[in-house]
This record gives sequence, structure tokens and C-alpha cells, in this order.
Amino acid sequence: SDIGSQKERVVTEEEWLQKWEMGNIGFHKEQGHPLLRKYLDVLLNGRSGLRIFFPLCGKAVEMKWLADMGHSIVGVEVSEQAVKEFFSEHSLPYCEEPVPEITGAKLFQSTSGNISLYCCSIYDLSSSIIGKFDGVWDRGALVAVNPCDRQRYASLMINLVEKNSSYLLVTVSYDPNKHKGPPFYVPESEIKSLFG
Ligand code: SAH
Repeated sequence: SDIGSQKERVVTEEEWLQKWEMGNIGFHKEQGHPLLRKYLDVLLNGRSGLRIFFPLCGKAVEMKWLADMGHSIVGVEVSEQAVKEFFSEHSLPYCEEPVPEITGAKLFQSTSGNISLYCCSIYDLSSSIIGKFDGVWDRGALVAVNPCDRQRYASLMINLVEKNSSYLLVTVSYDPNKHKGPPFYVPESEIKSLFG
């Protein structure tokens, strides 16, 4: 597959933190993503009270939306600013505590208990720490992961889902020679080989 020079590109955690500091967050959708509304039934598949995972969550408003529907949300985000903005923009009281298994990581949890956001790198997490999920909303996540880390990311995600889970993945289609990303171009063939 031709992903051009994107194969070598690396965006560091520091650069992501800077994007948040500078307000350089064009990826954030204040009204939520239309594709989640469109495919909500596929994600839920008639089930209620699901555990839903938001990898690389930013301050995605869909977390509040699904929590209000009675689901329990877990997200992971490297920027503490993003996590705090999520809770303050929705006027949600929260508490903050260290994560014993991960040095330097913090868990931010809504007082109502149904939204838990881990502030750390996704690569620090495992199913022994956060359990397994019935659903995943992967938007701005796989496509934001450095191309060299895709395999590791996909293996982790496969490990984090229950047998009967639904995984909604949003990708972007464009000529990777014309834009350096992120979001990166992930060809369909690669998605098939990553997730099987
Ligand atoms: N999914 C969100 C945000 C997409 S942008 C949305 O739909 O709006 C990608 C986000 O991933 C950024 O907020 C960035 O800070 C975060 N991020 C990048 N690398 C990460 C990593 N290794 N672990 C956790 N979060 C990471």
C-alpha cells in the first residue's frame, strides 16, 4: 500500500500537548460526530448499559452523550488540559486520583461515576487495568497514531474488547503525498491486516 512519506512521520506526545496549549485543535467537534449518530444502532446493537471505550479521546462530546444514555465511558488522553476542559465544559464535577499501576498517570472520574478518563499514554494501559469493552468509538484515534505504532495500537485494542463487541472506526481518505498528517491515511487493506 502506498502511504508515501507518512510511514516515517512521528508526532511526539509533547507536540500533542502543545497543540492543546495553543488551541490548535481543529479536530474537536463541538456538535459531536455525525457518523456516531448515523451508526449508533450498530454500536449498541440493541444493548443497554454498555462499557464503551474512547481511545485518544480528547474532549469528545460524544462521551457525555453516551453517558447520558446510560452507558459507562472510559477514555484515555495524554493531555490533562483536554481532560479538564471536558469536565468543565459539561459542568461535570469530578475527582482526580493516581493510578497505582502506572507511574505518573491520573484517573479523572465524574462524581456520578459513569465517565472515567485516564490521563496517560494509551500504550500504558492494558485490560488488567481498565477491563474489557462492549463498544469502541475510534475517531481521530487510529488515524492519529504514528504509522510506526499502528500494529501495537491494534493489538492493544483487540485485547481490550469483549467477544461480542462493536468497534466503530472512522478513517479519512485522501492522497497521502499531498498532506503529511495527522490525520494519517490508513488504507483499507491495512485496516484488514491490522484487525483481521
Ligand atoms: N478522538 C478525539 C481526539 C482526536 S485528536 C476526537 O474525536 O475529538 C487525537 C488525540 O489523541 C489528541 O487529543 C492527543 O492529545 C491524543 N493523544 C495522542 N497520542 C496519544 C497517546 N499515545 N495516548 C493518549 N492520547 C494521545
